[in-house]
Amino acid sequence: MGEFELIQRHFQRSNQTPPGQVVLGIGDDCALLQPSPGHQLAISCDMLVEGRHFFADADPAALGHKALAVNLSDLAAMGARPLGFTLALALPSAQDAWLSGFAQGLFALADLHACPLVGGDTTRGPLNLCITVFGELLPGQALRRSAAQPGDDLYLSGRTGEARLALALLQGTDWALQHTAPGALHRLRGRLERPQPRMALGRALASVAHAALDVSDGLAGDQGHILQASGVGADIHQELLPVAPDLQALPEALLLDCLLNGGDDYELLFTAAPSDRAAIEAAAQRSQTPVHRIGQISTTPGLRLHKATGQPVMLTPRGFDHFA
Ligand code: ADP
Ligand code: MG
Repeated sequence: MGEFELIQRHFQRSNQTPPGQVVLGIGDDCALLQPSPGHQLAISCDMLVEGRHFFADADPAALGHKALAVNLSDLAAMGARPLGFTLALALPSAQDAWLSGFAQGLFALADLHACPLVGGDTTRGPLNLCITVFGELLPGQALRRSAAQPGDDLYLSGRTGEARLALALLQGTDWALQHTAPGALHRLRGRLERPQPRMALGRALASVAHAALDVSDGLAGDQGHILQASGVGADIHQELLPVAPDLQALPEALLLDCLLNGGDDYELLFTAAPSDRAAIEAAAQRSQTPVHRIGQISTTPGLRLHKATGQPVMLTPRGFDHFA
């Protein structure tokens, strides 16, 4: 199978009418996208590398899903609507079964969010997946990391920690096996392998929230990005942190590590004025997404965790850093 046959067979979908924003898709030197009048483009790029982000034997459909999900999640965190994406693919060899699995996972999620594949590049090399997403939003509505204000409420969509626990179970880690019920991996695996980007919530928040980001490297570390960009601090209250049923038997230190330093959560962390609580509630309802108020933004620098009793604990953001 040659390069062009590969693209045609697995990535060019002649049986489908692309959405209106696609003036020209795969097949020419460039794709042409038409954003809605008066909108800005939101662009993000994420790379998945074998051995670094996934194992060689990873299910190709789950990989296709996740490669796009992590990119869509960035659009959600900005409050943008997806327009389309490109796929740069390095493959050691062209294996039909792997490619069709990958394409199936990729397109299922792309179709769910009306985000068509409009181009890419294909080359031989160590397995590496790089997706660039294009989205649109109205000027002034982007949810920037720098927009948190002292006194803002701090919110989290869904809950964190399940992907971390799933990874530990997959790796057969003692602490995870010891403190989880049978069937936990079966229930949690999807949180790690098929994260669902919070697209509807992100768009619903665009006109009401202040700062936002998607939690990919751990709640505490990613929270640090908002604090740094906004020049503020934050207080998180432990009793307000949602805990998934499968995490409830973990000893406190392990539980907090999962909740705060987990990674791969792809939930939205955002801030909004206390006077907008009803509007945030409405956005959560409209997007059918659970949202929890977990703390507030403060003028005092640093990130503090308040437990039910005792002094607050200073959290050192230690999100994942590839070069640390
Ligand atoms: P060029 O040489 O002009 O860069 P290519 O020969 O690499 O073009 O690609 C031909 C067409 O196929 C282009 O429209 C390109 O965007 C598209 N394409 C290549 N690889 C992929 C891929 N993995 N997924 C989607 N489209 C692709
Ligand atoms: Mg090319």
